[in-house]
Amino acid sequence: MYRIGHGYDVHALSEGLPLWIGGVKIECSFGAVAHSDGDVLIHAICDSLMGALSLGDIGKHFPDTSYEFKNIDSKILLERTMSLVKARGYAIVNVDCTLALEAPKIGPYNSHMRDVLSAIMSISPDDISIKATTREGLGFVGRKEGVEAWSVVLLKKSNLL
Ligand code: MG
Repeated sequence: MYRIGHGYDVHALSEGLPLWIGGVKIECSFGAVAHSDGDVLIHAICDSLMGALSLGDIGKHFPDTSYEFKNIDSKILLERTMSLVKARGYAIVNVDCTLALEAPKIGPYNSHMRDVLSAIMSISPDDISIKATTREGLGFVGRKEGVEAWSVVLLKKSNLL
């Protein structure tokens, strides 16, 4: 039995903050404004996993009003989300993500991100796709005011894998 899920996230960007994407720290002068570490890609992936199993969204499971999640490493949120998935007897088949970010180029980090995420998600790096695009200077992403991410994930009953 298969389940498909979609996730989306957005964060504002501000000078002087760390920028975490896909569990990796990106070298640049600005970062995400967030209650957690603001890892937009991991948040979108978590939302897609929760969506696939109709478990609500990341805000329901990890509320940004809770001190427990203040500045939390989003890799911990992904680990907890994977626990929810595994507890329901599902495993990931593959995940496909898109990131919209005007700068910097994240291509050089792609392989490291997929290695980090695959270890948490119990799949091969080859089963994780992370694509990146700019907004061609248009809108809030184009003005470098924010970053967006989308994720689509396919789950399979783990006893069928
Ligand atoms: Mg978020």
